[in-house]
Amino acid sequence: MIPPDASAPRAAEQPRRSQDILEFYRERIMFLLAIAVAIFITPFGILDLFEGHILLGVATLAIVVCFGIDGIAIHLKKRPPIPFAFLLLPTVIAIGVSLNTEGLHGALWCYPGVLLCYFVLPRRLAVAASLVLLAVAAPLVLLSLGQGNALRFAVSLALTIVVIYIITDVIRELQSELLGQAITDPLTGAYNRRQMEFALDDAVERHQRTGAPATILLIDIDHFKRVNDEHGHDAGDRVLKDLVHLIKSRARKLDRLFRMGGEEFLLFLADTPGSAAMIQAENLRGRIAEAALLKGRPVTVSIGLAELQRNLTQAAWVKRADTALYKAKETGRNRVVRADDTDAD
Ligand code: GH3
Ligand code: MG
Ligand code: MG
Repeated sequence: MIPPDASAPRAAEQPRRSQDILEFYRERIMFLLAIAVAIFITPFGILDLFEGHILLGVATLAIVVCFGIDGIAIHLKKRPPIPFAFLLLPTVIAIGVSLNTEGLHGALWCYPGVLLCYFVLPRRLAVAASLVLLAVAAPLVLLSLGQGNALRFAVSLALTIVVIYIITDVIRELQSELLGQAITDPLTGAYNRRQMEFALDDAVERHQRTGAPATILLIDIDHFKRVNDEHGHDAGDRVLKDLVHLIKSRARKLDRLFRMGGEEFLLFLADTPGSAAMIQAENLRGRIAEAALLKGRPVTVSIGLAELQRNLTQAAWVKRADTALYKAKETGRNRVVRADDTDAD
């Protein structure tokens, strides 16, 4: 019995500081929770029925059944039929009945109830749902157990909510930091090659479906080896960083810059046909040449441009841009060459 894999997040597409930190892992968590619920909660439900607490027994077993239905669906790699947030419903009902019939023992179930909120809901909603649970449960405890107990219960549950909030906040920070490290090149901050493969894959797939245009610019610094040789490796690194900064500052919101390796970058222009990309590329080339990225030596780039075409694979698309870049280098550097339709794929 292998728990299903969380669908791997395509990091470049994820919001950097999402409120829903469990989004990509929720099915896996719910599958494991369904097992835990079946093991730990079923005996209580059966015991309640035997002891004549029919409503409580039914409500408790309803939790097991609902979790079980979703758990089995997840295991079979099907869409869980019960939205996860709905699982709170039998849970809250069972806690309510338990609070009413069992007093303090019922109140204890509020703590895993709060945890469940965080598992099934995005964070802000989870906080809201937990506070509602607190607001509903505290008066019930007050009625059955008196003021002192109700106060202790309310404070300890509120503290639990705060602690979970802090923990999830730390996880969110870490997640965002690790995500940043996993998807970008540490020196320049440009997206890494793996993210480029995701982005181009999506563009190819989208183009096949809708015909949406897309163009890539393969950008390579001219004679960069000389920069290193004459000014040192650190100066070379600075040029790389400044170049990325400059390209990003000129890029539009949907454009994505990837470091292919060394001093070669790929700028992905979504929804951009070759002719419009050509203007953008020329503009960029000129800006870089004017930018004086290094004192005493002009830094220029050569650019190979390739528009996405029908039946082109990702590799063939990049190859076309590479061939165009090669031509730009051959014909004198500091220029943009557009892949023409006669280029071999
Ligand atoms: P061309 O105009 O034909 O592209 O010539 P080039 O000198 O730019 O190309 P070549 O491929 O010969 O040299 C690339 C150089 O880039 C060699 C390598 O030392 C340098 N390089 C690669 N990665 C880094 C890096 O992260 N930092 C620095 N400073 N240099 C790097
Ligand atoms: Mg170069
Ligand atoms: Mg190169």
